[in-house]
Amino acid sequence: MFLIDFFLDILYPPRCAVCRDIIPIDKPRWLCDDCARGGFTPIEGSVCESCGAPFSPLRAACPGCHNNAHKFVSNYALFLYAGREREIILNLKYHFGPPMMAFVKKLIKDTIDITKLTGFDFYVPVPMYKKKEADRGFNQAHLLARALSELTGVPVLKDVVLRIKNTSAQSGLDHLGRKQNITGAFALSGKKDVILSKAILIVDDIYTTGSTMDECTGVLLSGGAKSVNGFTFCVVPYKSDGSIDLI
Ligand SMILES: [Zn+2]
Ligand SMILES: [Zn+2]
Repeated sequence: MFLIDFFLDILYPPRCAVCRDIIPIDKPRWLCDDCARGGFTPIEGSVCESCGAPFSPLRAACPGCHNNAHKFVSNYALFLYAGREREIILNLKYHFGPPMMAFVKKLIKDTIDITKLTGFDFYVPVPMYKKKEADRGFNQAHLLARALSELTGVPVLKDVVLRIKNTSAQSGLDHLGRKQNITGAFALSGKKDVILSKAILIVDDIYTTGSTMDECTGVLLSGGAKSVNGFTFCVVPYKSDGSIDLI
């Protein structure tokens, strides 16, 4: 086994989860010395009661959420979609995939009070369109939900909400465009009875305007879920006028 690892490391040298530089074989995996320095900065203190982005006063909606009431109760965002934390989620999604999850899971475990994520009956990852997921080989929202589940014991429901529309990417669309693009994208499967009167936590990688989480929440509530909250690895910070930088 050691020998196989050794040759794999030569063929596919370990790379940093942030900057993707090659990491010397004798160093711990996933962070180069530069990126390991200084750690990571979770969102702490006063946050928007809806999207989870930093905002004060406490228990008030940020300008972005104030103008767009959400269907979910609140989103718990771990990091801002900025700096090294942004690179981590992009590298998970587009470069490293499942092998990076041990690192991401440890990062989540070391960063948050995991008991905040225990009061739910199920985690529901935002689903991908089947063909898209097959092409990518994984759904990053599902990987995150599974990692949370391994930390808290709350089970993951993967096949209750389905993505029935192959939506184009939300990137670059404004709030209305995102809403229109995602409307009707989700539906409940034949296994929907399991969500009746249950408290659900939707899990996704990035929170931008909340359109995806709202649409998913609407479908879960229509199926009889008791309450729906969200967890995202990152949240895109809004600007003072309530708009966001579209990604
Ligand atoms: Zn690095
Ligand atoms: Zn907000």
